[in-house]
Amino acid sequence: MTPLTAQRILQMQPSATLAMSALSRKLQAQGNDMINLSLGEPDFDTPNFIKQAAKEALDQGYTKYTPVPGLPELRKAICEKFLRENQLIYTPEQVIVSNGAKQSVSNILFSILNPGDEIIIFTPYWVSYNEMVKLTGATPVFLSADVQANYTPTPEALEQAITSRTKAILYSSPGNPTGTVFSKVTLEAYAEVLRRHENILIISDEIYEYINFCPTHVSMAQLEGMQERTAIINGFSKGFAMTGWRLGYMAGPEWLVKACSKMQSQITSGATAFGQKAAVTALHRGRPSTISMVETFRKRRDYLLEKVKALPGVRCNHPEGAFYLFPDFSSYFGKSFEGLVLSNADDLTMYLLRHAHVALVSGTAFGEERCIRLSYAASDSILAEAMLRIGRALEQLS
Ligand code: PMP
Ligand code: GLU
Repeated sequence: MTPLTAQRILQMQPSATLAMSALSRKLQAQGNDMINLSLGEPDFDTPNFIKQAAKEALDQGYTKYTPVPGLPELRKAICEKFLRENQLIYTPEQVIVSNGAKQSVSNILFSILNPGDEIIIFTPYWVSYNEMVKLTGATPVFLSADVQANYTPTPEALEQAITSRTKAILYSSPGNPTGTVFSKVTLEAYAEVLRRHENILIISDEIYEYINFCPTHVSMAQLEGMQERTAIINGFSKGFAMTGWRLGYMAGPEWLVKACSKMQSQITSGATAFGQKAAVTALHRGRPSTISMVETFRKRRDYLLEKVKALPGVRCNHPEGAFYLFPDFSSYFGKSFEGLVLSNADDLTMYLLRHAHVALVSGTAFGEERCIRLSYAASDSILAEAMLRIGRALEQLS
C-alpha cells in the first residue's frame, strides 16, 4: 500500500531528544560502548513510597476510567501544593491533570491557537513547542537570546515581538535546554510589558521547578495581576523522577481548563487512575526526596561546567536549574575530520556520536544552531568519561 501519511505529519519533525536517545540505544545494541547524554530524564528511580502508593491504589481498585480533568483528590492536592510552596490560591476547577506535561502544553496550544495567530516562543526553546505550534496552524515568533545574554531576551525585544495577532508567550524556567532561570526582576520586567497588552496569555512551563539551584522558584503567576492570565505547566516527571508514569498538570483560568478538558476528553480521557493516587502521595510526602536529588544535580552541574568551559573555544552560560548544559560550539564549525567538513551543530553532534560514542542533541532542534545540549542526568563517572571522549574527539579536528 502507498503510505497515506498526511501533510501535517510529513511536515513535522520527530522529537530530536527521543530520536537521539533511540539512535544511541540502537548503536549500543550493535555492540558500541555508548554514553547517552541526550535524554532529559533523571537517572534516579521513583522513590519507593510513591511506588508503594501506586501498588496500594491498584489493590484498592483504582483501575477504571478517571474524571477527564483528574481525580478530585489529586486536583485538591495540587491546589494545596500551590498554596504551600508558591503562595498561589487555586481552586480545583482551575487545575487539570494530563498524561504528562507534554500533553498539558499541547492541550493549551490547541485550545487557544487559530491558524494565523502568533505565539512568541522564547528561543532556545524545548523541542516540542515549535512542532506543536506548527500543528495548530498558528505562526511561531521566535524571541532569541544567545549564550552571552544567558539566553534571556530583553523586555524591549519582547515588546517589539508583540503584534495585534499575538495570542500567547511560551517559555520554560528553569529552562530546557539552557538551564536558565528567570529571576523575579526579569519576570517583573516582562510583566511590565505584558500589562500593556492585556489579552496575551502567558504559558509558563515550570516542569523543572524543583530542579532549581536558586534559593526560591519564582512564577509569573505570583506577580501582580498576572495569575488570571498565566497558565502554569508542571508535572511529576522531573521533580519526582516519574518520567514513565506520564503525569502532568496545568493551572490557569477556568475557561482554559474547560477548553483543555474538552480537548482531552476526545483525545486521551483522564490520566491513569493508580498513577494519580500515587501522585497525591508524591505531593503530600515527596518534597524531601527531591532535595538530595537536586544537590546531586548541582554538584554535577559544577563539575561538567568546569570541564566544558575548559574545552578550547567553547562558551557556556552558568545554568541555575534543570539538568542541561547548552554550550556554544560554533568555533568548531568548518573544521574537518579525515577530509569531512563539520559545518554545523548537526554535523558536530553526529561526529561526536559516531567517533566519541557520546549521544548529545544538536541545538538546531531547540532553535539555536550554534549550540549542543548535554544532559547531566548521569553518574559522575559517566560524565567524566563522556568529557574525556568529547575532548579527545575535538582535538582530532583540524
Ligand atoms: N516541558 C519541558 C520543558 C520538558 O523538558 C519536558 C520533558 N520532559 C516536558 C515539558 C514534558 O514532560 P512530561 O514528561 O511530563 O511530558
Ligand atoms: N523533555 C525531555 C528532554 O528534553 C524528555 C524527552 C522529550 O520529552 O522530548 O529530553
